Amino acid sequence: MLALRVSRPEGFEFSPGQRVKLNFGGLKRPYNISSTPSDAFLEFCVERVKDGSMSPRLFELKTGDPLLVKARAKGKLTLCPTATEHLMVASVTGIAPFRSMVRHALEDPRAGATPHFTLLHGGANAEELVYAEELTALARAQPDRFTYIPRVSPPGELSEVGCEAATGRVSTAALPFIERLDPTKTQVYACGHPAMIDEVRVAVCRRGFSFASEAFWKL
Ligand SMILES: Cc1cc2nc3c(=O)[nH]c(=O)nc-3n(C[C@H](O)[C@H](O)[C@H](O)COP(=O)(O)OP(=O)(O)OC[C@H]3O[C@@H](n4cnc5c(N)ncnc54)[C@H](O)[C@@H]3O)c2cc1C
Repeated sequence: MLALRVSRPEGFEFSPGQRVKLNFGGLKRPYNISSTPSDAFLEFCVERVKDGSMSPRLFELKTGDPLLVKARAKGKLTLCPTATEHLMVASVTGIAPFRSMVRHALEDPRAGATPHFTLLHGGANAEELVYAEELTALARAQPDRFTYIPRVSPPGELSEVGCEAATGRVSTAALPFIERLDPTKTQVYACGHPAMIDEVRVAVCRRGFSFASEAFWKL
Protein backbone atom coordinates (compact mmCIF):
# COMPACT_ATOMS: atom_id res chain seq x y z
CA MET A 1 0.00 0.00 0.00
CA LEU A 2 1.37 3.39 -0.95
CA ALA A 3 0.51 6.75 0.62
CA LEU A 4 1.37 9.13 -2.18
CA ARG A 5 1.70 12.78 -1.28
CA VAL A 6 1.94 15.45 -3.99
CA SER A 7 2.12 19.22 -3.81
CA ARG A 8 -1.29 20.77 -4.23
CA PRO A 9 -1.62 22.68 -7.50
CA GLU A 10 -2.34 26.36 -6.95
CA GLY A 11 -6.07 27.05 -6.78
CA PHE A 12 -6.95 23.34 -6.70
CA GLU A 13 -10.23 22.93 -4.79
CA PHE A 14 -12.10 19.78 -3.88
CA SER A 15 -14.79 18.47 -1.57
CA PRO A 16 -13.85 15.65 0.82
CA GLY A 17 -14.72 12.35 -0.87
CA GLN A 18 -13.88 13.45 -4.40
CA ARG A 19 -11.37 11.91 -6.77
CA VAL A 20 -8.98 13.18 -9.37
CA LYS A 21 -7.20 11.68 -12.36
CA LEU A 22 -3.46 11.11 -11.98
CA ASN A 23 -1.50 11.10 -15.20
CA PHE A 24 1.78 9.20 -15.30
CA GLY A 25 3.76 7.73 -18.17
CA GLY A 26 0.98 8.48 -20.65
CA LEU A 27 -1.67 6.68 -18.54
CA LYS A 28 -4.53 8.23 -16.57
CA ARG A 29 -6.36 6.65 -13.64
CA PRO A 30 -8.77 8.10 -11.05
CA TYR A 31 -7.73 8.08 -7.38
CA ASN A 32 -9.67 9.35 -4.40
CA ILE A 33 -8.09 12.13 -2.39
CA SER A 34 -7.42 10.94 1.16
CA SER A 35 -6.21 14.29 2.51
CA THR A 36 -8.52 17.16 3.51
CA PRO A 37 -9.06 20.58 1.93
CA SER A 38 -7.14 22.15 4.84
CA ASP A 39 -3.98 20.15 4.04
CA ALA A 40 -1.37 21.97 1.95
CA PHE A 41 -0.75 18.81 -0.10
CA LEU A 42 -2.86 16.17 -1.81
CA GLU A 43 -2.59 12.61 -0.56
CA PHE A 44 -3.70 9.41 -2.25
CA CYS A 45 -3.52 5.84 -1.09
CA VAL A 46 -2.74 3.42 -3.85
CA GLU A 47 -3.00 -0.35 -3.99
CA ARG A 48 -0.56 -2.21 -6.21
CA VAL A 49 -2.78 -4.10 -8.66
CA LYS A 50 -1.04 -7.25 -9.86
CA ASP A 51 -0.24 -6.91 -13.58
CA GLY A 52 -1.79 -3.44 -13.57
CA SER A 53 -0.44 -0.93 -16.11
CA MET A 54 -0.12 2.14 -13.89
CA SER A 55 -0.39 1.36 -10.17
CA PRO A 56 2.85 -0.71 -9.93
CA ARG A 57 4.71 2.17 -11.59
CA LEU A 58 3.50 4.62 -8.97
CA PHE A 59 5.35 2.51 -6.38
CA GLU A 60 8.61 3.25 -8.22
CA LEU A 61 8.22 7.02 -7.90
CA LYS A 62 10.98 8.86 -6.01
CA THR A 63 10.64 12.06 -4.04
CA GLY A 64 10.64 14.96 -6.50
CA ASP A 65 9.48 12.97 -9.53
CA PRO A 66 6.76 14.77 -11.53
CA LEU A 67 3.20 13.48 -11.48
CA LEU A 68 0.39 15.24 -13.30
CA VAL A 69 -2.84 15.89 -11.40
CA LYS A 70 -5.89 16.70 -13.51
CA ALA A 71 -7.10 20.22 -12.85
CA ARG A 72 -10.60 19.33 -11.60
CA ALA A 73 -11.70 17.01 -8.84
CA LYS A 74 -14.88 15.06 -9.54
CA GLY A 75 -17.28 12.71 -7.82
CA LYS A 76 -20.50 12.65 -5.86
CA LEU A 77 -19.36 10.47 -2.97
CA THR A 78 -19.41 13.47 -0.67
CA LEU A 79 -20.89 14.05 2.76
CA CYS A 80 -24.69 14.18 2.88
CA PRO A 81 -25.32 17.52 4.65
CA THR A 82 -28.69 16.57 6.14
CA ALA A 83 -27.83 13.22 7.75
CA THR A 84 -26.98 13.17 11.44
CA GLU A 85 -25.59 9.65 11.26
CA HIS A 86 -23.12 8.43 8.66
CA LEU A 87 -22.33 4.74 8.15
CA MET A 88 -19.29 4.21 5.91
CA VAL A 89 -18.03 0.85 4.66
CA ALA A 90 -14.64 0.62 2.96
CA SER A 91 -12.43 -2.11 1.59
CA VAL A 92 -8.66 -1.50 1.49
CA THR A 93 -7.93 1.81 -0.33
CA GLY A 94 -11.66 2.53 -0.42
CA ILE A 95 -10.89 4.15 2.93
CA ALA A 96 -9.47 7.22 1.10
CA PRO A 97 -12.68 9.26 0.59
CA PHE A 98 -13.92 8.45 4.10
CA ARG A 99 -10.67 9.43 5.77
CA SER A 100 -10.97 12.80 4.03
CA MET A 101 -14.65 13.23 4.92
CA VAL A 102 -14.32 12.20 8.57
CA ARG A 103 -11.14 14.15 9.27
CA HIS A 104 -12.58 17.25 7.61
CA ALA A 105 -15.86 17.05 9.53
CA LEU A 106 -14.15 16.46 12.87
CA GLU A 107 -11.64 19.26 12.27
CA ASP A 108 -14.20 21.81 11.13
CA PRO A 109 -16.11 23.49 13.96
CA ARG A 110 -18.66 24.74 11.42
CA ALA A 111 -19.80 21.15 10.93
CA GLY A 112 -22.28 22.26 13.57
CA ALA A 113 -24.93 19.58 13.91
CA THR A 114 -22.40 17.13 15.43
CA PRO A 115 -23.10 14.24 13.11
CA HIS A 116 -21.80 10.85 14.18
CA PHE A 117 -19.63 8.71 11.92
CA THR A 118 -19.24 4.93 11.97
CA LEU A 119 -16.47 3.76 9.67
CA LEU A 120 -15.98 0.05 8.96
CA HIS A 121 -12.78 -0.85 7.19
CA GLY A 122 -11.93 -4.27 5.76
CA GLY A 123 -8.77 -5.79 4.31
CA ALA A 124 -7.09 -9.14 3.84
CA ASN A 125 -4.32 -8.33 6.30
CA ALA A 126 -2.92 -5.61 8.53
CA GLU A 127 -1.08 -3.86 5.71
CA GLU A 128 -4.32 -3.38 3.80
CA LEU A 129 -5.86 -1.48 6.71
CA VAL A 130 -4.14 1.70 5.68
CA TYR A 131 -4.64 4.61 8.15
CA ALA A 132 -5.86 2.17 10.85
CA GLU A 133 -3.62 3.59 13.57
CA GLU A 134 -4.54 7.18 12.80
CA LEU A 135 -8.26 6.42 12.65
CA THR A 136 -8.13 4.41 15.86
CA ALA A 137 -6.49 7.38 17.61
CA LEU A 138 -9.10 9.75 16.18
CA ALA A 139 -11.93 7.52 17.40
CA ARG A 140 -10.37 7.35 20.87
CA ALA A 141 -10.03 11.15 20.96
CA GLN A 142 -13.64 11.82 19.89
CA PRO A 143 -15.64 8.73 20.89
CA ASP A 144 -18.96 10.58 20.84
CA ARG A 145 -18.45 11.63 17.20
CA PHE A 146 -16.54 8.81 15.57
CA THR A 147 -16.46 5.00 15.73
CA TYR A 148 -13.81 3.10 13.75
CA ILE A 149 -14.17 -0.66 13.20
CA PRO A 150 -11.35 -2.46 11.36
CA ARG A 151 -11.83 -6.01 10.09
CA VAL A 152 -9.30 -8.44 8.65
CA SER A 153 -10.63 -11.33 6.59
CA PRO A 154 -8.30 -14.19 7.63
CA PRO A 155 -7.52 -14.93 11.28
CA GLY A 156 -4.21 -14.20 13.00
CA GLU A 157 -3.25 -10.80 11.58
CA LEU A 158 -4.20 -8.55 14.43
CA SER A 159 -1.08 -7.39 16.20
CA GLU A 160 0.45 -5.29 13.40
CA VAL A 161 -2.62 -3.12 12.97
CA GLY A 162 -2.03 -1.14 16.14
CA CYS A 163 -5.67 -1.58 17.08
CA GLU A 164 -8.14 -4.29 17.91
CA ALA A 165 -9.19 -5.67 14.53
CA ALA A 166 -11.59 -8.57 14.75
CA THR A 167 -11.83 -11.02 11.88
CA GLY A 168 -14.63 -11.31 9.34
CA ARG A 169 -16.05 -9.66 6.27
CA VAL A 170 -16.60 -5.94 6.55
CA SER A 171 -19.99 -6.13 4.82
CA THR A 172 -21.13 -8.63 7.48
CA ALA A 173 -19.79 -6.37 10.22
CA ALA A 174 -22.02 -3.60 8.83
CA LEU A 175 -25.23 -5.61 9.24
CA PRO A 176 -25.88 -4.93 12.97
CA PHE A 177 -25.54 -1.19 12.29
CA ILE A 178 -27.89 -1.41 9.31
CA GLU A 179 -30.43 -3.16 11.55
CA ARG A 180 -30.06 -0.64 14.38
CA LEU A 181 -29.73 2.75 12.66
CA ASP A 182 -32.65 4.94 11.67
CA PRO A 183 -32.94 5.14 7.84
CA THR A 184 -34.54 8.61 8.06
CA LYS A 185 -31.46 10.09 9.75
CA THR A 186 -28.65 7.98 8.30
CA GLN A 187 -26.66 8.13 5.08
CA VAL A 188 -24.83 4.92 4.15
CA TYR A 189 -21.75 4.91 1.90
CA ALA A 190 -19.53 2.16 0.51
CA CYS A 191 -16.30 2.39 -1.47
CA GLY A 192 -13.76 -0.01 -2.96
CA HIS A 193 -14.42 -3.63 -3.92
CA PRO A 194 -17.51 -3.96 -6.18
CA ALA A 195 -18.71 -7.21 -4.55
CA MET A 196 -18.55 -5.68 -1.06
CA ILE A 197 -20.50 -2.67 -2.35
CA ASP A 198 -23.20 -4.92 -3.81
CA GLU A 199 -23.57 -6.76 -0.48
CA VAL A 200 -23.98 -3.51 1.42
CA ARG A 201 -26.35 -2.12 -1.21
CA VAL A 202 -28.69 -5.12 -0.95
CA ALA A 203 -28.79 -4.85 2.86
CA VAL A 204 -29.37 -1.10 3.05
CA CYS A 205 -31.83 -0.75 0.17
CA ARG A 206 -34.06 -3.37 1.76
CA ARG A 207 -34.41 -1.09 4.79
CA GLY A 208 -34.83 2.12 2.79
CA PHE A 209 -31.54 3.88 3.56
CA SER A 210 -30.13 6.53 1.29
CA PHE A 211 -26.99 4.96 -0.22
CA ALA A 212 -23.98 6.32 -2.12
CA SER A 213 -21.08 4.26 -3.45
CA GLU A 214 -18.01 4.22 -5.63
CA ALA A 215 -16.59 0.98 -7.05
CA PHE A 216 -12.92 0.99 -8.05
CA TRP A 217 -13.44 -1.51 -10.83
CA LYS A 218 -16.16 -3.58 -12.49
CA LEU A 219 -16.60 -7.27 -11.77
C1 LIG B 1 -13.78 6.37 -9.12
C2 LIG B 1 -12.53 5.57 -8.86
C3 LIG B 1 -11.71 5.90 -7.77
C4 LIG B 1 -10.56 5.13 -7.50
N1 LIG B 1 -9.79 5.44 -6.40
C5 LIG B 1 -8.74 4.64 -6.12
C6 LIG B 1 -7.94 4.88 -4.93
O1 LIG B 1 -8.18 5.82 -4.13
N2 LIG B 1 -6.90 4.04 -4.68
C7 LIG B 1 -6.60 2.97 -5.51
O2 LIG B 1 -5.63 2.25 -5.24
N3 LIG B 1 -7.32 2.75 -6.64
C8 LIG B 1 -8.36 3.56 -6.96
N4 LIG B 1 -9.06 3.31 -8.10
C9 LIG B 1 -8.57 2.30 -9.05
C10 LIG B 1 -7.53 2.97 -9.99
O3 LIG B 1 -8.14 3.99 -10.76
C11 LIG B 1 -6.91 1.98 -10.98
O4 LIG B 1 -7.94 1.30 -11.66
C12 LIG B 1 -6.04 0.97 -10.27
O5 LIG B 1 -4.93 1.63 -9.63
C13 LIG B 1 -5.47 -0.04 -11.28
O6 LIG B 1 -4.82 0.65 -12.30
P1 LIG B 1 -3.71 -0.11 -13.17
O7 LIG B 1 -3.38 0.77 -14.35
O8 LIG B 1 -2.58 -0.55 -12.31
O9 LIG B 1 -4.45 -1.41 -13.65
P2 LIG B 1 -5.15 -1.64 -15.08
O10 LIG B 1 -4.10 -2.08 -16.02
O11 LIG B 1 -5.97 -0.44 -15.46
O12 LIG B 1 -6.22 -2.75 -14.70
C14 LIG B 1 -5.95 -4.03 -14.30
C15 LIG B 1 -7.26 -4.72 -13.89
O13 LIG B 1 -7.45 -4.59 -12.48
C16 LIG B 1 -8.75 -4.10 -12.16
N5 LIG B 1 -8.59 -3.34 -10.90
C17 LIG B 1 -8.53 -2.01 -10.71
N6 LIG B 1 -8.36 -1.71 -9.40
C18 LIG B 1 -8.29 -2.90 -8.76
C19 LIG B 1 -8.09 -3.26 -7.40
N7 LIG B 1 -7.94 -2.34 -6.44
N8 LIG B 1 -8.06 -4.57 -7.09
C20 LIG B 1 -8.21 -5.51 -8.05
N9 LIG B 1 -8.41 -5.24 -9.36
C21 LIG B 1 -8.45 -3.94 -9.72
C22 LIG B 1 -9.15 -3.29 -13.38
O14 LIG B 1 -10.55 -3.22 -13.48
C23 LIG B 1 -8.54 -4.12 -14.51
O15 LIG B 1 -9.38 -5.20 -14.84
C24 LIG B 1 -10.22 4.06 -8.37
C25 LIG B 1 -11.03 3.75 -9.48
C26 LIG B 1 -12.18 4.48 -9.70
C27 LIG B 1 -13.04 4.10 -10.90
